[in-house]
Amino acid sequence: MNRVYIKTYGCQMNERDSEAVAAMLRGRGYRIVDDENACDIMLLNTCSVRDAAEQKALGKAGYVSARKKRQPDFVIGILGCMAQNRGAAILDTLPDVDLVIGTQKFHQVPDYLDNLRAAREAGVPIGSSIVDIAEEAGSQNTIRDHLIDTADAGAGPDGEGPPPAPQVSAFVSIQQGCNMDCHFCIVPKTRGDERSRPMEAIVAECRSLASKGVREITLLGQIVTSYGRRDYAHTGGVSPFVQLLEKVHEIEGIERIRFTSPHPRGFKADLVEAYARLPKLCEYVHLPMQSGSDRILRAMNRPYSRERYRQIVEALRAAQPDMYFSTDIIVGYPGETEADFEQTRELFEACNYDMAYIFKYSIRSGTVAAELADQVPEAEKERRNQVLLDILRRNSGRRTASLIGTTQEVLVDGPDKTGRRFTGRTRGNRVCIFDADPRLIGQLVPLRIERASVSTLYGSLVLAGVDATAAEGASAATPLGAARSPHVSAA
Ligand code: SF4
Repeated sequence: MNRVYIKTYGCQMNERDSEAVAAMLRGRGYRIVDDENACDIMLLNTCSVRDAAEQKALGKAGYVSARKKRQPDFVIGILGCMAQNRGAAILDTLPDVDLVIGTQKFHQVPDYLDNLRAAREAGVPIGSSIVDIAEEAGSQNTIRDHLIDTADAGAGPDGEGPPPAPQVSAFVSIQQGCNMDCHFCIVPKTRGDERSRPMEAIVAECRSLASKGVREITLLGQIVTSYGRRDYAHTGGVSPFVQLLEKVHEIEGIERIRFTSPHPRGFKADLVEAYARLPKLCEYVHLPMQSGSDRILRAMNRPYSRERYRQIVEALRAAQPDMYFSTDIIVGYPGETEADFEQTRELFEACNYDMAYIFKYSIRSGTVAAELADQVPEAEKERRNQVLLDILRRNSGRRTASLIGTTQEVLVDGPDKTGRRFTGRTRGNRVCIFDADPRLIGQLVPLRIERASVSTLYGSLVLAGVDATAAEGASAATPLGAARSPHVSAA
């Protein structure tokens, strides 16, 4: 009755929340399992950004409820954004759900599961569900446990299962919630007001991760560029977020820093300059545009213009010529005309993205945009979607082709899915596959790019005078380590 399977929907914040819940549960004696058919407890950590994501999780919960007939003690929990958004109403359609736990209560999951187990062992009738979606002061400080901290015992505290692979990259939650009130977005409702963790706690967590072998940190939050704006002063024109980047940059052992999700409003001179002066800050920026039309940006309540957005991209490319960009775009926002879309298309083409998340607008009840009348027909949304996808394919493909024949700095993550080769990422966040040796996991190595598919680069390690593909000798590779160049070296 202690095997837990956690299924995560949605964004990296959700992945991080799930990991923290898993770590807390392991610490409490639960086993985290990969096989959903071999669990006693299934937790669905949900997403509310689009209706389709909610329907998926509801469908899954309904489907697994049938298991209660043959496994009466089976526990189903719905966590996160949809739990926060729908609350106890979930039980109207899914009465077999045992737990409905909101976004500020992840840390309570172990207690609630302990209580459920104790009640069932004591013969308390099944059917009493727990719903907790209350706000909790300080909840932003509770997402801090990592599986890496509970990994010593193998797959579970009982020591079963193979030892986990060394963890090279980690997400660190720095703030929760958002006060921006974009008119299409449900996040302020599901995640609440902006709350930042203390800088010292974040730095201590990063330092601890570095001591356990983590080399790459991704700082996470709903709007990271607003980090600490109510808690810390700007000093010398440097925002609290950039101060945090500087502190993480100082940590020995941390070789790469990324962050997500920022807001264009946060890209003032201090952050742009950080890319030129902090070599550990990877030259990959996720810069949500949403629309290239000033009229639609105003309708969305996004406080920047297309011109300002273009200036930010240009400033970042000037600070870091090798910059990689990704973005979020919504096509078919209510009232978006062909002329508005043309503005988006033009800016999207000009920004030359390496990656983009393009969404067809979907109504989210509880948002301002849901009340707007002038909806764009589905077929037209799909057409606009395809126009942008074609541009993305072309631009991203061109960038990929330009990497063939170059040598890229790659952080070796571990074995790939086949277990026969190794995988890692470039500073521009491109996935690479190559032959290596397990001793190189966690090292920065030079990789000669030989070919590419749509999403993956393939190459050979650049070794010091030995056959690059000889696995036994692969440890002779020259790790870039602290002495590395911060940039990609062209051939
Ligand atoms: S800034 Fe991002 S998270 Fe905040 S309301 Fe806007 S889209 Fe949502």
